Amino acid sequence: MTPRIPIVDCHCHIYPEKVAARAVAGIGAFYDTPMCMDGTKATLQREAAAAGITHSMIFSVATKPAQVRSINDFIASEVQMSGGTMTGLGAMHPDADDPAADMAHLLSLGLRGVKLHPDVQGFCIDDPRCMKIYALCEENGIPVLLHTGDARYDMSNPNRLRPMVEHFPALTVIAAHLGGYSVWDDAQAELCGLPNLYVDCSSSLPFMTDARAVELIRHWGADHVIFGTDYPMWVPKSEVDRFLSLGLTQEENEAILWRNAARLFRLDADMLRSAVR
Ligand SMILES: [Zn+2]
Repeated sequence: MTPRIPIVDCHCHIYPEKVAARAVAGIGAFYDTPMCMDGTKATLQREAAAAGITHSMIFSVATKPAQVRSINDFIASEVQMSGGTMTGLGAMHPDADDPAADMAHLLSLGLRGVKLHPDVQGFCIDDPRCMKIYALCEENGIPVLLHTGDARYDMSNPNRLRPMVEHFPALTVIAAHLGGYSVWDDAQAELCGLPNLYVDCSSSLPFMTDARAVELIRHWGADHVIFGTDYPMWVPKSEVDRFLSLGLTQEENEAILWRNAARLFRLDADMLRSAVR
């Protein structure tokens, strides 16, 4: 049984219908894992409803600077057509000619943060080329959601994240996948005591025992964790069930499933509550 509270899925990648199959195959190949969903908004909406997810944060990553504007226009139009069930984050790229103009554009579209994927976009988190992006997010008071962690590479691991988070104390940084996909021990050891650092719990729980998941969530603190499914990687309902079966307290569940997300992304709490059937 899904609880009668809002559930905000903070981590959803979506693609235009005509490129979704290719994009999803590309991620599956990158992570050498089968993808459960097709990456379209229509499927996300159907599966979110089946999972009791009442609001979805959607985005797409720009692998080339030339894609930034078109991706942000696409995400904004999908938000517009979602009937209030979705909020978007924008793409940016460290090699873009005019990051300030890209930021102004994404803000004008109503996007509420920036999603970056260092390993896929080909930069290290602490790359000097990225500092302008972080500074722009900090100045504009919007969070940056970063893919973090990959034991195969050294681009988004905790050692690179920590100095960046410390360098931008007024920036809200959300480290996806509990602070470091596949390097959870390093994340736990290296990333404590950073008040502006949050984590999402997407693409993590399937790889650890419930006890370990609870230990990590409490390491971060329930007020610093947000829920995500990493659509289209997993079946949303399975991820909600997996999270609920951890046996966290009602207060922890509410914080992680919607209250923290509402705060970080400035989502209207009444709107979120009114979506609960
Ligand atoms: Zn992601």
